[in-house]
Amino acid sequence: MGFKEKCFKKSLWVFHLSAGSCNNCDIEILDCLTPRYDIERFGMKLVGSIRHADVLLVTGVVTKKLLPRIKEVYDQAPKPIVVVAIGVCSCTGGMFKDCYTFKGPLDKVIPVDAYVPGCPPKPEAMLAGIMKLLNK
Ligand code: SF4
Repeated sequence: MGFKEKCFKKSLWVFHLSAGSCNNCDIEILDCLTPRYDIERFGMKLVGSIRHADVLLVTGVVTKKLLPRIKEVYDQAPKPIVVVAIGVCSCTGGMFKDCYTFKGPLDKVIPVDAYVPGCPPKPEAMLAGIMKLLNK
């Protein structure tokens, strides 16, 4: 199957959950929506409700305060949902992993299908990660 066929097999709708990120990962996600990266050419778009999403992007550190919110959002997601940890904070905890409020990493809390490390990851890395998911 060619690249185009894979891309257009399904239009993925994406919901972004910021679990207290420093904002850089969030800005890089928004960059994917700009005409430069134009994520919509792959049929993907950001949606305002987890109930409409096929993909859940999580940025930031999983803290004691955010833990119940992350679980709540995941429980409300239509299944199957693909979960992508964006940035080293959600992948491993990064520099915050020894913090007393740290309850992550994300895959300890909810099942994670893909990891896009980096601080912050570039839009190209996010697009590459999401493209790999299209093979699933
Ligand atoms: S991975 Fe880096 S850029 Fe992303 S939220 Fe953590 S500190 Fe910020």
